[in-house]
Amino acid sequence: MNKLQGLSCMLLGGMFLLPLGCGHPKTAEEAAPPAIQQEAAAEAPAPAPGKEETENHIIATEDFSNLQLKDAAIPVYDKHTLAERRAGGLPTVLPELVPYREKKMAYLTFDDGPDETNTPAILDILQKEQVKATFYVLGKAASAYPHVLQRIFQEGHAIGNHSYDHDYDRLYASTGNYLAEMEETDELLCSLIGMRPLITRAPGGRMGHFNDAYAEAMVLNGYVEHDWNVSSADTAPNHPVAQDFIDNIDAQAVTDCAIILMHSSSGHEETVKALPGIIRILKERGYSFGVVTPMTPQPW
Ligand SMILES: [Zn+2]
Repeated sequence: MNKLQGLSCMLLGGMFLLPLGCGHPKTAEEAAPPAIQQEAAAEAPAPAPGKEETENHIIATEDFSNLQLKDAAIPVYDKHTLAERRAGGLPTVLPELVPYREKKMAYLTFDDGPDETNTPAILDILQKEQVKATFYVLGKAASAYPHVLQRIFQEGHAIGNHSYDHDYDRLYASTGNYLAEMEETDELLCSLIGMRPLITRAPGGRMGHFNDAYAEAMVLNGYVEHDWNVSSADTAPNHPVAQDFIDNIDAQAVTDCAIILMHSSSGHEETVKALPGIIRILKERGYSFGVVTPMTPQPW
């Protein structure tokens, strides 16, 4: 075993937190070389809802050369933290990637979770509807509800980094602050699911928060940030109800790539109520459902 493998977050998770190793059973596919893992993931049949599968994600190779997406509903993760990549002399910058534009795609995204009520209820609906989604989680919430985070992972949804605790003053004080918090959150998530997300969403969105220095720092560290182009407005201050969110999606989901903002944290019971109606509208409009990956087109 080389030095880098010895450092891998998968083993750290197994040694210190999860006796089975990273929150899911290790299989022959996971032990295989990365190229074989990617092939297995790409050729595997769609996982049955609720059935635990380990072919339901793609693991980036050490040089990221396998990140050309064949199926927009399969999440992509890295098995190494940034610290491990630096220590092992591996690249941290992603190669130029071809955006996935093969179908009319809707990306359901849920921020600020997990929690112990609404996120599981959303997972139940997604399972019933056979739809995959993306959860931009907070490190603080993930450490409070690790079993919900692990369920998101095991059911084949994508997990993205949404900072540790959504503190704008600290995050946007400097690029150094922002990157340090994202990296710490990465390491926490990696210890819970055995994988590091490559996708991020800046709390509040990058508009109005990022300048060129943030954008450059994100690229140098291989972070791919996605804001949204369709908002349910489920955090509006005037106590909106489920039908308001459905109407918002109905009015805004008109582009071929619809990245839809919702929230799965405590207090968003109306979002749970709205979700079946939102999915119905999107299906009637001919959308397929993807998960956000580094190859997902930017929403504008
Ligand atoms: Zn948020």
